[in-house]
Amino acid sequence: MIWKFCFLIIGLWSCRESSFQHPVSETASVDALTTNEQSIKKDAIPLNNVTTIEKDTLKSNEVAPKRICGVLEMDYIMGKFDPAKNGCFELVPASLADKSGLFLRKETLSAFKEMLEAAKKDGINLRIISATRNFEYQKGIWERKWSGQTKLEGNINASKISNKKARAEKIMRYSAMPGASRHHWGTDIDINELNNKWFESGTGKKVYDWLQTKGKEFGFYQVYTSKAADNRAGYEEEKWHYTYKPVSAKLTNIARETMHDEHLSNFSGSEQAKQISVVQKYVLGISEACWK
Ligand SMILES: [Zn+2]
Repeated sequence: MIWKFCFLIIGLWSCRESSFQHPVSETASVDALTTNEQSIKKDAIPLNNVTTIEKDTLKSNEVAPKRICGVLEMDYIMGKFDPAKNGCFELVPASLADKSGLFLRKETLSAFKEMLEAAKKDGINLRIISATRNFEYQKGIWERKWSGQTKLEGNINASKISNKKARAEKIMRYSAMPGASRHHWGTDIDINELNNKWFESGTGKKVYDWLQTKGKEFGFYQVYTSKAADNRAGYEEEKWHYTYKPVSAKLTNIARETMHDEHLSNFSGSEQAKQISVVQKYVLGISEACWK
């Protein structure tokens, strides 16, 4: 009887201990959000998951924004919004890009401008060739490749690959499924050329070496590094694709915790996502340095 009483007391104490493990909810300052964003959808990630980025998760020389703008629910992660109508985004000035009409998150654009100025002083020219692409835009890219309308590298017509899993994997050497691209997030940019060879000699190598050495000081990391060197799955190396880690590390974590292959739907070949383990191998198949 006495033992039973002891177990009861220990049990109650354990419950109290475990309730102490829950983090205290942080008060999010909603004034940083637009009116539209204040009407949080039912399945939205709670605000306390949205606004914080812990300084100690970043290296000492990385700039941590006090809060991340917006409500980062699954539709956001999957690019199901219009960046032109999202208050957290800004038009990239045409002088910084090789085309007009590109958008980035304000934090990303501001950090990029600082990096661009520092690069200029070292004789390095940077320009953005691709920025935010939403779900619909990515779906266009994907389906033109899936149907053979756009050829893959080596002039390959993907529609001739009858095994659909193999077809999807072939496209995914360099292109993401709609909903699974980091370009949805407004944190990722392609710089100067979409060609690894260009970055391996002459001007291109100078640009690459500068970005590798100095980019981190401004928060920018190469995402798709050498697969062998980084022991990662997923896309082939892309020497041009950089992410603004102070924001995208948080988005990567949200994707890791809440995104499943079943979320990928409504485009040609989407039924292959589960067989391929797109979330695990591709969304999370990135250089560790850019999110850990
Ligand atoms: Zn890219």
